[in-house]
Amino acid sequence: MLKVENVTKYYGDNPAVKNLSFTVNDGEIFGLLGVNGAGKTTTFRMIIGLLDKSDGTITFDGSPVDYKVTDKIGFLTEERSLLTKLTVYDQALFYGGLKGMDKSEIIERLDYLLEKLEIQEYKNRKIKELSKGNQQKVQFIMSIINKPKLLILDEPFSGLDPINIELFKKLILELKSEGTSIIFSSHRMDHVEYFCESLLILVKGKTVLSGNLKQIKEDFRKKNIIIEGDIEKEKLEKIKGVLGVSFNKGEYLVKINDMSIVDKVFKYVSTCKNITKFVVEEPSLNEIFIEKVGGSYE
Ligand code: ATP
Repeated sequence: MLKVENVTKYYGDNPAVKNLSFTVNDGEIFGLLGVNGAGKTTTFRMIIGLLDKSDGTITFDGSPVDYKVTDKIGFLTEERSLLTKLTVYDQALFYGGLKGMDKSEIIERLDYLLEKLEIQEYKNRKIKELSKGNQQKVQFIMSIINKPKLLILDEPFSGLDPINIELFKKLILELKSEGTSIIFSSHRMDHVEYFCESLLILVKGKTVLSGNLKQIKEDFRKKNIIIEGDIEKEKLEKIKGVLGVSFNKGEYLVKINDMSIVDKVFKYVSTCKNITKFVVEEPSLNEIFIEKVGGSYE
């Protein structure tokens, strides 16, 4: 279990991360989100011990994160850190060796991961000769070659097509089921919704939202109503509490500021003809993110 408690980091006089606290349990995928410059990379570096904290504590399974536990950690950064003149095989021997693995263990794990990501044929190719997406696969393999107990994934799907994203997702879920604590960071809110039960949003180093995603959605007062049928948009827009109405692909999307408005909308819609759909939905994480982050900038 990873525990981050009241962590602060100053660069000179500027606080990049302020009083940050969160926990990632074994077998949990935790979302750490924020716009550019919010403090995510700074946090990752403090967690893996690459950067000193100004204040607070970080422990993994009850102990401080230092060289004794680095063999148990994996980190997939946005920046490529591959030795591109090496072959995939030699790169794996190098990384695995750094993580304290012996040669046969590395080769067995490499073969397994190459097969899972469907790139067995590149095992003896130089990394610089591979496409961007395949280099991303190799980078991912290196970050999990040691079956990490703690894994940080920063924009893991960048440069991947949808088919390869599915292959990555399967491996991430496999690690989760094996008990790995995973921190997942992405600007793609649909991916965050797919993986993360709990999350935290940083704005300029401060936590503006944190907790269980289901609860966050329930607590967010604004909801959406999806309607299909012959309605008059203008009439809906006039209802007090309706924030906006848009029409796309045959459906009206009605944004309301509180659940109490549903009855009023329903009352009007029940006077209309050919209604084939009336569904009240939770807002997407994307909407919540924009409101929370945008609001904090005002
Ligand atoms: P991005 O999504 O763009 O990678 P981020 O959320 O990872 O952003 P950080 O890189 O952690 O954000 O930066 C947080 C803040 O700290 C920013 O204001 C940044 O300018 C500042 N910062 C980061 N690294 C340093 C450094 N080495 N020296 C001084 N300030 C820094």
